[in-house]
Amino acid sequence: MPAYQQLPDAHGHFGPYGGMFVPETLMSALNDLAAEYERAKIDPAFQSELAELLRDFAGRPTPLYFAARLTKNLAGAKIYLKREDLLHTGAHKINNALGQILLARRMGKTHIIAETGAGQHGVATATVAARFGYECVIYMGSVDMQRQALNVARMRFLGAKVVAVTAGQATLKEAINEAMRDWVTNVRNTHYILGSALGSHPYPMMVRDFHRVIGLEARQQIQEREGKLPDVLIACVGGGSNAIGLFHPFLDDASVRMIGVEAGGEGIRTGKHAARFQGGRLGVLQGTKTFILANEDGQIELTHSISAGLDYAAVGPEHSYLRDKERIEYVYATDDEALAAFRTLAETEGIIPALETAHAVAHVIKVAPSLPSDTIIIVNCSGRGDKDVAQAATYFEF
Ligand SMILES: *Cc1c(COP(=O)(O)O)cnc(C)c1O
Repeated sequence: MPAYQQLPDAHGHFGPYGGMFVPETLMSALNDLAAEYERAKIDPAFQSELAELLRDFAGRPTPLYFAARLTKNLAGAKIYLKREDLLHTGAHKINNALGQILLARRMGKTHIIAETGAGQHGVATATVAARFGYECVIYMGSVDMQRQALNVARMRFLGAKVVAVTAGQATLKEAINEAMRDWVTNVRNTHYILGSALGSHPYPMMVRDFHRVIGLEARQQIQEREGKLPDVLIACVGGGSNAIGLFHPFLDDASVRMIGVEAGGEGIRTGKHAARFQGGRLGVLQGTKTFILANEDGQIELTHSISAGLDYAAVGPEHSYLRDKERIEYVYATDDEALAAFRTLAETEGIIPALETAHAVAHVIKVAPSLPSDTIIIVNCSGRGDKDVAQAATYFEF
């Protein structure tokens, strides 16, 4: 039985993936961060403060909810939703933001920076910065600022400065570039709260660990409820943090099948998508070696997804490794399928999911009907859809 849960190695490698591909000037900051994280991880005071914040400020544990009507309508497997959408700020992102702000304080940093795509990570970061009294700057692509205006306003009310990034495609990749530039310049007093299981070591490991609480809770909840482990886990994959958070505590349970759902955009053949495992290749982007969407010269290709949070050219390195090992399957859902699932979940369960989450729901709608009724599926309901209602209303001409 392979011990998947032992990875990465001390330099952040998941087999051939991961590592630390950063400018010289960031190496000592990243090494300091990795060392501080190792100390914090085994420090009971750190862990108990984080647990208290997750409980009283963020709202953990989140429920594991049996989706009775969706199950009945699909007439197949039993579907449970892990309700990360009920967390403070509306998505799983707060788990990681809380962990990292405690680390920033331990390291004596005074400034917080972050990138954001859909704005959910920016909101989570601005929230923890306000809670701990930190100055906070959020970098966001100007295109994303337009499609996620509500989150821009939330960040500003929380006291953060939102900097518009207009370079290139003006979305998440460019926002990360700007955040990295700021960090290189101000690394002595600044902590960069990276928002997914991406980038240089130690981020993919650290962000994953802060989200493992999702899978640890789900494991206990399903055993109390059903007296056994789930058969299938399904989650959407942008950088891969909500997925790895749910999956990781089950990796060494061979009976548990895991499916990651990428953004198929307008379809793989159109080239307008963000499904790195459909036609992507091995490359290095923003600190890590992993699957990326690039041309033969290694130039990053344009990506597209209806959901800003899945619209990124690289996938977290641990996902590339687990895909090679055939431990996790990766599929995709198109924009149209995600939008249909967005409506289905709203109408059958009274839950409006984030468009990112709707990709995972779309896959459940595809597979549940052909599975036996004693099959148990847990879907990670990574976030709520308030931020996406205006966009979906335009699409459906409401
Ligand atoms: C950011 C976000 C995602 C995508 O990020 P991952 O790191 O892949 O989890 C998915 N769902 C929601 C609700 C998000 O806000």
